[in-house]
Amino acid sequence: MQDTLGRKINYLRVSVTDLCNLRCMYCMPAHGVCKKDHDSILRIEEIAEIVKAAVELGINKVRLTGGEPLVRKGILDLVGEIGSIEAIKDFSMTTNGVLLKKYAQALKAAGLHRVNISLDTLNAEKYKYITRGGHLQDVLDGIAEAKRVGLLPLKINVVLIGGFNDDEITDFVELTLQEEVEIRFIELMPVGEASTWAKTHFLSNETVLEKFPDLVPEITNDKSSPAKYFKLPQSKGRVGLINPISNHFCGACNRLRVTADGKIKPCLHANAEIDIRKLLAAGKTLTDILAAAILQKPAGHKLNDPNFEPIERNMYQIGG
Ligand code: SAM
Ligand code: SF4
Repeated sequence: MQDTLGRKINYLRVSVTDLCNLRCMYCMPAHGVCKKDHDSILRIEEIAEIVKAAVELGINKVRLTGGEPLVRKGILDLVGEIGSIEAIKDFSMTTNGVLLKKYAQALKAAGLHRVNISLDTLNAEKYKYITRGGHLQDVLDGIAEAKRVGLLPLKINVVLIGGFNDDEITDFVELTLQEEVEIRFIELMPVGEASTWAKTHFLSNETVLEKFPDLVPEITNDKSSPAKYFKLPQSKGRVGLINPISNHFCGACNRLRVTADGKIKPCLHANAEIDIRKLLAAGKTLTDILAAAILQKPAGHKLNDPNFEPIERNMYQIGG
């Protein structure tokens, strides 16, 4: 389905939980989040129904995210339900990778196509610091298992944080020389915990290109991809730059988001939300609700406006 600006909306991102087994400093408060009342979080069956209705409207790309999707009870059942929908051509998950060693094989068997793994540092001490207690080796084991079972292509998300991992850009880029992996550098966005951080730690992705002038841009036909891709000569993998701030991609936005507590967000950076359960109770169908949300997509975010106010929700609530 197209929105009012003619953008074809074919990508649904669903946050399946706002809980997480890490506490990344730019995403979660140190004390974590209060466990929500069980009833306020969408049930697995409800999420599956939403995805099915979205597919009727032309969604053919689905990503599960969170919080940490692998801590959600019933996640394998949900992956199995979505994995069996033929019209879905790209079915992925964004995960911190901590539990992937345990789940990768079952996820693949249930129909998941691929994973994006978030990893902001290759140094065990720094990993423990930024995640407030995580173990780097768990993620490395998870990455190895995802590769082994074929959750490919493997993408690694690295949020660029000034003063924290700018000294590791070279190590990350050089991983693409020998490995068929996509390293995607993401600019820190002023959302939730990071809304004040972003000003002091923001680093433009241009920094990567300055360090590696021999990165060659790839020509791609996929205008809706937020990443611009580059390759080093002779490398097996590639480098993606996702610049929501310095060069935003709203004009080609193809996505709709659903939060774990059942709200549709037509835009990540706007507070507007549509309460699915409330509208269902008022007699609307899921397809009506999703179609109306698509028509409410704004033209673009206002992150670069001098008077921009960061949104009220955190990334772990919306799903990055
Ligand atoms: N827990 C999973 C994970 O970390 O991959 C999925 C949810 S997490 C919110 C999704 C992605 O959002 C992660 O790659 C995380 O680094 C990113 N993220 C969180 N806060 C962010 C921010 N303020 N700016 C940019 N990316 C952010
Ligand atoms: Fe958890 Fe992902 Fe947020 Fe880190 S970025 S706290 S892993 S939801």
